[in-house]
Amino acid sequence: MYDMIVIGAGPAGIASAIYGKSRGKDVLVIEKNKVGGLIGSVSTVTHYPGIIEGETGQTFAERLKAQAEGAGIPIVYEEVKETILDGDTKTVITDKNRYETKTVVAANGGSGRMLGIPGEGLGGMRLNAPRDGKNYAGKDVFVIGGADGAVKEALYLAGLAKNVTIVCVEDDLICIPEFKEKAAKTPNLHVMPHSSLKEAKGTDHIEELVFVDNTTGKETVIDDLEAGVFVYAGIVPNTAVYPALDKDAAGYLITDEKMETNIPGVYAAGDIRSKAVRQVATAAADGAISGISAAAKA
Ligand SMILES: Cc1cc2nc3c(=O)[nH]c(=O)nc-3n(C[C@H](O)[C@H](O)[C@H](O)COP(=O)(O)OP(=O)(O)OC[C@H]3O[C@@H](n4cnc5c(N)ncnc54)[C@H](O)[C@@H]3O)c2cc1C
Repeated sequence: MYDMIVIGAGPAGIASAIYGKSRGKDVLVIEKNKVGGLIGSVSTVTHYPGIIEGETGQTFAERLKAQAEGAGIPIVYEEVKETILDGDTKTVITDKNRYETKTVVAANGGSGRMLGIPGEGLGGMRLNAPRDGKNYAGKDVFVIGGADGAVKEALYLAGLAKNVTIVCVEDDLICIPEFKEKAAKTPNLHVMPHSSLKEAKGTDHIEELVFVDNTTGKETVIDDLEAGVFVYAGIVPNTAVYPALDKDAAGYLITDEKMETNIPGVYAAGDIRSKAVRQVATAAADGAISGISAAAKA
């Protein structure tokens, strides 16, 4: 029986585990992929206090992992499939094991939103900038989404690709001025406003991309076997394993100020939680509060 099980090893989960462990609790972190979460797979980490110059998602994730290991926190690499949360003993069921715990922290974030278009599963679609960007040196790439994360990854890709086109449904980029100014000064970065990617055609790999201008309805077909598409169109919260927890209209978990959900002893932290700002700073803050609250209850 654990005192605390933390689901997800992004900044929220690692912060929660560190605070729980620091209070003498027996903590387990369950992560289905890699320590670092979403921020571990971005080109650069910006704005979080204390980051090093040129901090990449990878270096940030490595330090998160080292800090958790240094604190003696066990991390198992398993996918949580089901949770049974009522009562004093909670059960967390993964693809490999079944665990019992006094408290649970749901810190398993969100997944990239699917566009829901034909051809979304083709090769060359839904790429990751730091992992795949180097394969697109000298080629044309498209970034879907006009918010902070999308524009930041587009700026990174502009250093590698021949041309980067940001395709956004809005009339202009909706990112912070810092990124907007950088984008305006980057000659090979273009914006396709009020537009959407309608379809990707090909057998295994992209052969043609069909874009639509949402104001005129006009379609533009790009016939390019070498093009790559990077999608940063928001996230959907990973809440399927928490049917018993209260959610807001957009599906995010509702908590009180202690990060406690509607079920006593069950907490939520980070991007999965209903809140206004989703950043590493707020994920770490939620993590700290949930870890302290869960430790007090366990
Ligand atoms: C392109 C982009 C750039 C960004 N850049 C910045 C930035 O520069 N600065 C900043 O502050 N914020 C940035 N953000 C936002 C930031 O990444 C998130 O706010 C932050 O990662 C949220 O942390 P989290 O711990 O809540 O969730 P996540 O980082 O999403 O971590 C959740 C973890 O849970 C795991 N998981 C999911 N389901 C399960 C399951 N069933 N079982 C076990 N494990 C599971 C996942 O594998 C993942 O590791 C960016 C976001 C994007 C998309």
